[in-house]
Amino acid sequence: MVAVNKVLVTASLAFMAVATYQWGNSDSPDSRGVQLIDTAVAAETPAEYSPVKARARDFYTPNSEDLAPDEMRLIACGTGMPTARPKQAASCWLLELGNGDKLLFDLGTGSAERIAAMQIPYNYLDKVFLSHLHTDHFGDLDALFIGGALAGRQKPLRVWGPSGATPERGTKYAVEHLRKALTWDIDGRAGLTDPRGYHIEANEFDYKAVNGIVYQENGVTIRSIPAIHSLDGPVSFIVEWNGFKFVFGGDTYPNKWFAKYAQDADLAIHECFIAVPDMIEKFKFTPQSALAVGTQIHTAPAAFGKMMSIIKPRMAVAYHFFKDFDTTGAIYDGIRSTYDGPLSLSEDYMVWNITKDDIRVRMAVIDEDVWPPPATEKPQAPDASLRIPYSDMISGGKYDMSDVIQPTYDEINKEYGLNEKQE
Ligand SMILES: [Zn+2]
Ligand SMILES: [Zn+2]
Repeated sequence: MVAVNKVLVTASLAFMAVATYQWGNSDSPDSRGVQLIDTAVAAETPAEYSPVKARARDFYTPNSEDLAPDEMRLIACGTGMPTARPKQAASCWLLELGNGDKLLFDLGTGSAERIAAMQIPYNYLDKVFLSHLHTDHFGDLDALFIGGALAGRQKPLRVWGPSGATPERGTKYAVEHLRKALTWDIDGRAGLTDPRGYHIEANEFDYKAVNGIVYQENGVTIRSIPAIHSLDGPVSFIVEWNGFKFVFGGDTYPNKWFAKYAQDADLAIHECFIAVPDMIEKFKFTPQSALAVGTQIHTAPAAFGKMMSIIKPRMAVAYHFFKDFDTTGAIYDGIRSTYDGPLSLSEDYMVWNITKDDIRVRMAVIDEDVWPPPATEKPQAPDASLRIPYSDMISGGKYDMSDVIQPTYDEINKEYGLNEKQE
């Protein structure tokens, strides 16, 4: 287990979190209709605190809470920068809906391990929506594609993303060529494991579409709006489900489409870049680059605040900065110079539970030793005839280990009633 980092929230948010906390016992759902299990045993009153009784926990543990039919859960699986680091992977957001759907927005470098920490069977993690094709927003697509198939996704990985000004700047080109780059990897797995997951599907849509529908299934509608960032192509997404509106903003200079279509979102994520002085001091940018990248290619903190004051979400979520003790203050002050509403300065493993009445913000506490959850369907046995053989030269280099390996074959054959033989 890793320690829970301190969460910087506003006074109003902190109040919200306190307001949702109720004294109750373990067998009644809490105020959000969520059944807390395990350690969620609370005393009736403060006077009943006990040295041997657990109190209701104020952190999220993956795979331990039901999601109510009218509830959404958002988990930050990456909030940082193109240079991933232990504390923060790059942009990735897992949205879980009360209807069972799970949608990934961006899949930045380093985020696949955060997704793994959520202990969700990989068959449910088959839908990815990319805001644009910078590696800090799709750099772990290979990891989820291959690693997810190996760990129980028994269906193709489906990817939605924008076109570009030219075909080779579009999502389809990127996905097809990523698949080509993985030829050796995929060929080497043929005949060894369940083959069904090793397919990837690209659904490319027009990056210039304004509020056009890019996805509509199972009561969920996702629309895209253009963004202004680096080159033509980036977009933001607007998800509507069950009366909720969730907005995921990709990288952008503040834009008029977001100002119009993100209005009144239940939760709105928007990038918010590192303050310019810290880009110079800590990221070692030249002043010229820091100004251009930090305020023109991306959204400066005061500009983030101005945008949130326009759209007035129930919860504003800022990301795309290294959130450290000595960088967060400047970002917070910049935002607060133009916005005084509910705010989360996100970091990896932050969790939002969203209902009509409440938005509860916590940190997840994860198991670093996590293994893949069971597959939701019976694995399909591989067809060994599909194995691509070694050349005679390479297979001729095998040192004879058959005597020490045979006991493993004997043991497994006996336990599972098989008659497998060494190659
Ligand atoms: Zn970008
Ligand atoms: Zn980015």
